[in-house]
Amino acid sequence: MTTSATPDFYALDDLFTDEQKLIRQTVRDFVQREIAPDIDDYAQRAEFPRHLVKRFGEIGLFGPTIPPEYGGGGLDALAYGLMCQEIERGDSGLRSVVSVQSSLVMWPIFAYGSEEQKKKWLPKLASGEALGCFGLTEPDYGSNPGGMKTHFHDAGDHVVLNGSKLWITNSPLADVAVVWAKNEAGKIRGLLVERGMEGFSTPEIHRKWSLRASTTGELVFENVKIPKENVLPGVEGLRGPLGCLDQARFGIAWGAVGAAIDCYETARRYTAERIQFDRPLASFQLIQKKMAEMLTAITQAQLVCWRLGTLKNEGKATTAQISMAKRANVAMALEVAREARQILGGMGISGDFPIMRHLMNLESVVTYEGTHDIHLLILGAEITGIQAFK
Ligand SMILES: Cc1cc2nc3c(=O)[nH]c(=O)nc-3n(C[C@H](O)[C@H](O)[C@H](O)COP(=O)(O)OP(=O)(O)OC[C@H]3O[C@@H](n4cnc5c(N)ncnc54)[C@H](O)[C@@H]3O)c2cc1C
Repeated sequence: MTTSATPDFYALDDLFTDEQKLIRQTVRDFVQREIAPDIDDYAQRAEFPRHLVKRFGEIGLFGPTIPPEYGGGGLDALAYGLMCQEIERGDSGLRSVVSVQSSLVMWPIFAYGSEEQKKKWLPKLASGEALGCFGLTEPDYGSNPGGMKTHFHDAGDHVVLNGSKLWITNSPLADVAVVWAKNEAGKIRGLLVERGMEGFSTPEIHRKWSLRASTTGELVFENVKIPKENVLPGVEGLRGPLGCLDQARFGIAWGAVGAAIDCYETARRYTAERIQFDRPLASFQLIQKKMAEMLTAITQAQLVCWRLGTLKNEGKATTAQISMAKRANVAMALEVAREARQILGGMGISGDFPIMRHLMNLESVVTYEGTHDIHLLILGAEITGIQAFK
């Protein structure tokens, strides 16, 4: 049960263009119509609503900032952010699917790929005909991806890839994986690994309590022969995957606001209707305190998103600024979700309301794409000039 209302306490709508607001409304309506009614059932069954991949493509959620000549939307960063916000009002797992496809698969192919790679993959990924995934994390290398063991060697007209990746969103269903691996010289390169290549498998991870409506899995490479034309020519080193993460983290900072808004609006409506001690919950000071703090936190996060989006449009958003926004907004959303869950009392844990699902989802969002503490240390390095995480 979601709501279409949105707090706009500082009149940020004055700062968005009509086109951006129209895009936001379109995605919001889509979420209300096609996600909200049964997302809880999918999450309870731990099932990804796969039919949505095609629908996401149809409404332009995949690659909105990629130029139209490759099937993208040619939109700006604020429009992309608003899309992430609205999708995550529905579910963080579904926003994860959008982030991975747009920022971690289409973006690196667009930014680092050859013309042939772009023409082959981007239109199919934009339309939802193909689904992609992004393989960086390994069983022994999460926060420290530079230590990765997955590697490939030159074998004439192809390379041979060995290793494995863990915790990969979309992997069990993906048609193509953007995989980061080391060459013989120990340099990190990006490879496009296609479903069906011999020696490539994508086992699913089960028993998750979080992001249950999106699929997560492994990528396993056993002597996979990959044509050389599948190596991304445009980048070498850790800056390749980190460049993608900047794109995705930007969307997460916005998405978290969407999850928080859904929790806040659910609590606001519930407190108006729920009577205890002969009065609506909304009339008690402690409830009003919680609501006021939630609105303040959401408003601050909205302002950060807007400013970060305008900086990004000007090509000026830095990695550290994106880290701050991702970290602060996800922490904010978790706090709002926890408060909202308490406000609903016992009902707060019920699937009849979206709050517990958001809360559990956000426990992944606070960890993936750089953990809460790693982003803190990125900011610490920015302040002091000293990297404390190495
Ligand atoms: C549902 C889900 C989906 C995901 N999807 C993807 C995906 O699509 N692609 C992908 O590549 N990865 C994905 N990930 C992986 C995710 O990015 C990693 O889980 C994350 O980077 C953390 O790595 P780790 O789990 O190995 O934790 P670790 O790196 O082992 O960290 C464990 C704890 O130690 C802390 N820590 C680590 N190093 C330091 C340090 N130097 N100083 C202080 N504290 C430290 C961390 O902050 C954390 O709290 C996903 C994860 C989840 C849960």
